[in-house]
Amino acid sequence: MSARAVNGVPGPSTLMGDPGPEGRFGDFGGRFVPESLVPACLELDAAFREAWADPGFHLEFEQILTEFGGRPTPVTRCLRLSERLGVTVLLKREDLAHTGSHKLNNVIGQALLTQRMGKTKMIAETGAGQHGVASATAAALLGLECTVFMGEVDVERQSLNVFRMELLGATVRPVTSGSRTLKDAVNEAMRAWVSEVADTHYCLGSVMGPHPFPYMVREFQSIIGREARGQCAALLDGAAPDLVVACVGGGSNAAGIFSGFVDTSSRLVGVEAAGGSAIGTGIPGVLHGMKSQLLQDEEGQIKEAHSISAGLDYPGIGPEHAHLAATGRAEYTRAGDDEVIDALCILAETEGIICALESAHALAWVLREAGGAIPAGSSVLVNLSGRGDKDVAQVRELLAARTKR
Ligand SMILES: *Cc1c(COP(=O)(O)O)cnc(C)c1O
Repeated sequence: MSARAVNGVPGPSTLMGDPGPEGRFGDFGGRFVPESLVPACLELDAAFREAWADPGFHLEFEQILTEFGGRPTPVTRCLRLSERLGVTVLLKREDLAHTGSHKLNNVIGQALLTQRMGKTKMIAETGAGQHGVASATAAALLGLECTVFMGEVDVERQSLNVFRMELLGATVRPVTSGSRTLKDAVNEAMRAWVSEVADTHYCLGSVMGPHPFPYMVREFQSIIGREARGQCAALLDGAAPDLVVACVGGGSNAAGIFSGFVDTSSRLVGVEAAGGSAIGTGIPGVLHGMKSQLLQDEEGQIKEAHSISAGLDYPGIGPEHAHLAATGRAEYTRAGDDEVIDALCILAETEGIICALESAHALAWVLREAGGAIPAGSSVLVNLSGRGDKDVAQVRELLAARTKR
């Protein structure tokens, strides 16, 4: 594909590049924050760009992800599943990273940046608790004070993750405003950031929020795509896979793996939860400092997302994904709860891997479309974003409920 600019929209070859000082991805992105938050965003943008241009920062980042995080994560060929589906399935094993998902890449990057800015405290928001646990982990490793904002409803639902964060030395602050879930925890974390910005960094958990977060988090996660590009080339005679598939909540694991293949002819496919499909059913709007596709009612009120996987329960999507969808470079689709549970079970039985419910969304689409939207004989790389240990109790209940109905 050639580089071209139509009506100011960058051509494919400039996709997933530097979104500029305003953090624009076509019509999406930006920095829609109160005046009081602008200096913090500008400071962070400058600090990130300076660090990311420094080979010393990359060295330290990659050394920690290797020694502490277990990178590089392998690419696994799924022989039995491939035979069953008639397509070659490869898994990028982010489930094998320390703490059990890709989230570590982002929090190690941001914790290092916190130190580099001379700050001693990190705050984070969390829904189900996964990003909170990852943030608490990175803070413990680097000796930072950590406070995690979590909706009161989620604190009750996820008491084990609250305990994990406390074990790691973090403080969990229940948020009692609004619906007392993730959306409100983000608002509260932004408020706390403004008032404590002198010594505090806000470690946002996905490729969303105001610039520079969508850009910065994608860059920290791009290690997934860089590794996978080389690993796939070794397995596919130098070629890139025909398809690269990832689940999408905010979109950080998808952005990380897509960035390694955006300049190839690989089809890029993001799979949202059917009950949280911001590309499929959302409309453009502004939330949490960014313009993106959002789940809204007719009055523009943000709707709650619903999914069996808490990590996909976000009413929006990162702005760069909205742009990749608008340009057609990436496709976005969805998977429903039942097929997701089936996918988790099938992977477990055929390959000996229990994956996270989030990751099972990507797999569910592959299972549904093999031989259909995915031509027989294709090679498909699936980003297995996380391991399923956190989900087994829930899966047992869901399967028990299914046999009753
Ligand atoms: C948090 C999480 C996700 C969703 O976040 P993205 O930013 O969309 O990647 C997906 N998979 C796992 C295992 C997670 O923990």
